[in-house]
Amino acid sequence: MIPLVHKVLTFLLLLFPWFGHTAQSKPAPVIRQAVTTHKVIALTFDDGPSPKWTPKVLTVLNQNHVKATFFLIGSHATRQPLLVHEEVKDKMDIGSHGANHQILRNQSATVVRQEVETNAQILQSLGVPKPTLYRMPGGASDATALTVLGQLGYHVIGWSIDTRDWRHRTTAEAMAEKVEKEATPGAIVIFHDGPNGSEATVQAVQMLIPVLKKEGYRFVTVQQLLHLEKAKSRI
Ligand SMILES: [Zn+2]
Repeated sequence: MIPLVHKVLTFLLLLFPWFGHTAQSKPAPVIRQAVTTHKVIALTFDDGPSPKWTPKVLTVLNQNHVKATFFLIGSHATRQPLLVHEEVKDKMDIGSHGANHQILRNQSATVVRQEVETNAQILQSLGVPKPTLYRMPGGASDATALTVLGQLGYHVIGWSIDTRDWRHRTTAEAMAEKVEKEATPGAIVIFHDGPNGSEATVQAVQMLIPVLKKEGYRFVTVQQLLHLEKAKSRI
């Protein structure tokens, strides 16, 4: 019997190569930038919301008519529901950064799933649409974590330009200059608006927006970047 079963399976795999490879068993890829020729760039902010920095970042973005992507930590979001509402009202893109900013490398699938799903529940209870974007705390991941995120339907979002704004000796000028120098179509820039945010972060965002706009860049959310990717793959 067993050889027959084996034969049947082999036959099925020949006919339908995808039979044994459902998307769910594969680790989700980490998207660090979009492949596009359009001059688009996505600003992202991690670890918020924080009462100190999130309102300032939102003010600068709104004044410049720029939509950005915020990766929220559940425990921070719970303490600042009004700021979460503000981000939703301002039509910012909201992704998940975990319920407790837990590093997901070297964790069991159960632990990963709990951290991810708890935050999805927290964010939805605060009026955020079900998150589909995940940013790994510390940028740390492994095959187990990426597989669970893939199974849960998340896009895992990295970055292509690191402003290193969490190092508090980085000046606004240095950050803005780095982003201007490293900007490429489809780039994803990482900042922080949580407890590690700073006045320099706010100023850097204010400085770089007009410069990049002048160079012909359009600021988009990560969701919009992903749509561009999809449009490209259909061509
Ligand atoms: Zn973080």
